[in-house]
Amino acid sequence: MTPPNSPPPSSGGASSAFREDCLEGQVALITGGGTGIGRGISLTLARHGARIALASRDREHLDPTAEEIRELGGEAFVSELDVRDRETVKAAVDRTREELGPIDILVNNAAGNFLVRAEELSEGGWKAVVDIVLTGTFNLSQAVFSHMKEDGGGSIVNITTTYTETGAPWMAHSGAAKAGVLNLTRTLATEWGRHGIRVNAVAPGLVEGTEGARRLVESIGVKEEFERSVPLGRLTTVDDVAHAILFLCSSAAADVTGVEIVVDGGASLGGKFAQIGDRIPKG
Ligand code: NAP
Repeated sequence: MTPPNSPPPSSGGASSAFREDCLEGQVALITGGGTGIGRGISLTLARHGARIALASRDREHLDPTAEEIRELGGEAFVSELDVRDRETVKAAVDRTREELGPIDILVNNAAGNFLVRAEELSEGGWKAVVDIVLTGTFNLSQAVFSHMKEDGGGSIVNITTTYTETGAPWMAHSGAAKAGVLNLTRTLATEWGRHGIRVNAVAPGLVEGTEGARRLVESIGVKEEFERSVPLGRLTTVDDVAHAILFLCSSAAADVTGVEIVVDGGASLGGKFAQIGDRIPKG
């Protein structure tokens, strides 16, 4: 038998505890949906019946994932947009609704990030990350709002991080922006609940195989050390994140709004010394 906490296969949501038709007939717009975690979210929601709109700046990042969805028998529509630019955002949202129908789900996944010491962070670097992460999340949310309100509601999921409250070195720009996204999540949940729009967040830990994990632990040879500090003993997978989003978008979360689900194997808890537990004297 597979142990209950072992990771599902990282294959874009091939294995899940949810019924395959749980999002049947729904339309999901995923920013940054062609690469990394966004690709996994797109494939997972498609495997559970949703029609998928993938949106980012570069079509070459989107087309291969759209093709994978079609090969699975799903429907995929691709739009180019820059989340910082309200005009392209509005145009992409309107086109998605024309092509696929009412938008039920928005996943604000697009982001930019790089490691930098705070004292060396340029004005341009700060602005780019804050604009993509925070302003971009607001732009998309506002652009889908009028449609969702008119169409009877929907579900918005924002991707945050586990360091919004603790802070983390070399991430002044993205930490501040994601903390803003978390606050925005809660504020929009309070304002838009009466229109049937739920707004939640998922905070992933370090996700295996992504550029973020490569930069922080994989390429500098401290992956195993990091894993030993995580209570569940491993890095987060793309599927772990995608399944939390699937839950929030499904009817199982019909009464859930304004929450952040942390998906990090307990990494952000104060458990740094748990690994020396067997050296603590008994009794
Ligand atoms: P990624 O592979 O770098 O993906 C970022 C996506 O955002 C790309 O598809 C990119 O597509 C899109 N994007 C960037 N700027 C954009 C813009 N101005 N307009 C539209 N789209 C834009 O990142 P990832 O590692 O999968 O991360 C996905 C999400 O998870 C992010 O929100 C990230 O902060 C969060 N997260 C990641 C980790 C991790 O360990 N990787 C941990 C915690 C949280 P184009 O280049 O085509 O525009």
